Amino acid sequence: INDFLRKKVLVLGLAKSGVSAASLLHKLGAFVTVNDFKPFDENPEAQGLLEEGIKVVCGSHPIELLDDGFELVVKNPGIPYTNPMIQAALERNIPIITEVELAYKVSEAPFIGITGTNGKTTTTTLIYEMLKEGGKNPLIAGNIGTVASGVAQEATKDHVIVIELSSFQLMGIKEFRPHIAVFLNLYDAHLDYHGTKEEYGNAKARITANQTNEDYFIYNAGQGETTAAAKGTSAVSVPFSTDSIQRDGAYAENGYICFRGEQIMEMDKVVLPGRHNLENILSAVAAVKLYGVSNEAIEKVLTTFGGVKHRTQFVRELNGRRFYNDSKATNILAASAAISSFDGPLILLAGGLDRGNGFDELIPLLQNVKAMIVFGETADKLTETAKKAGIAIIKHVDNVGVAAREAYELSESGDTILLSPACASWDQYKTFEVRGDMFMDAVHKLK
Ligand code: ADP
Repeated sequence: INDFLRKKVLVLGLAKSGVSAASLLHKLGAFVTVNDFKPFDENPEAQGLLEEGIKVVCGSHPIELLDDGFELVVKNPGIPYTNPMIQAALERNIPIITEVELAYKVSEAPFIGITGTNGKTTTTTLIYEMLKEGGKNPLIAGNIGTVASGVAQEATKDHVIVIELSSFQLMGIKEFRPHIAVFLNLYDAHLDYHGTKEEYGNAKARITANQTNEDYFIYNAGQGETTAAAKGTSAVSVPFSTDSIQRDGAYAENGYICFRGEQIMEMDKVVLPGRHNLENILSAVAAVKLYGVSNEAIEKVLTTFGGVKHRTQFVRELNGRRFYNDSKATNILAASAAISSFDGPLILLAGGLDRGNGFDELIPLLQNVKAMIVFGETADKLTETAKKAGIAIIKHVDNVGVAAREAYELSESGDTILLSPACASWDQYKTFEVRGDMFMDAVHKLK
């Protein structure tokens, strides 16, 4: 017997998470209808669901559908609460959850949840790798790997699910209670969806809403919003900070990464570059120390892990030049984090979709940039910014492959070559992954 047996459930949105949620609910004995805005033939998974015996309504969101007596709506996190269908469901007092809540209800395993504006995927991966190295049987869910409701089905109580949580997902939780929650940071982003920064912060702070004093809330002690969330939690709050000593949590001191007074490992041995990554690392160390992972396992991961693909990822060293792929940096904020990660001479590769914004905010960060190679729609704007920053060499090229080769040609031993576009990829590439792959391919072919 479970909460979903014979329940009439409407799954809204047929992306990966919707398909998985529908299929899981069907297995649990719910009467499932899925509804997606896109037409049937643009939903490759629709046929399969139909064959499983799930009702599929595609092509629009017909409000009348709600008259079918649904007791629960499972909504794709990307569908805003302003969507007319969601509004209508709210008016009818039908509970609305996201797939994470469903996963939580079904799973026997405890959860470690990670949220924040930036660094979620990196931190989630670090925690996963450290738990794995420490023999703790982790499963990873979220942006990378399988969606939560898929993972939850295979999880036993001997597993632990490490999950990346967007504010969109957190808005649709009711009972979700992670044993360990991590709140990395909060910056102005997604305000189009959430309205104000306060509402956005509140959505993220929901990660700790159901925690009790048997749980842990790991938070960034260097930021106001994350610290405010710690004041409101019932969990044991565990701070981390890159610039102050936090004896109750994780911090850096005398060249060591430390946790609660104990030296874990030397900072110099860490492969991931940058202060922003130190945030991710400290929060991950706190999480896995609380889970009983050994210092040796932590050190093994931090001395070998070169970053998640396309996120300030170390690609290769060739004749004293080090190449990094940060194709995921699709805005100025993300690119700033990557650029400030390097102290030595830098060759920066940037450009892409023009969203109408300028790039002069980057100027103070470009002091050690000796050359800039630009491409895409924003090439001219970036050229102007580079000139204002006094960068001696500026080249306009066709694509990131040519950019990699040009960069290598201009470079000297000791240089870092960084692709951190500060722009979305869609003017030239289908996704940021395609853009990053093209760059890495060109880098690997260099002789
Ligand atoms: P998310 O999953 O939250 O988008 P990622 O781990 O994928 O975050 O990192 C995306 C980009 O954001 C990175 O390439 C880096 O430039 C930047 N970034 C990563 N971690 C942080 C952090 N802790 N603070 C600020 N920026 C960060």
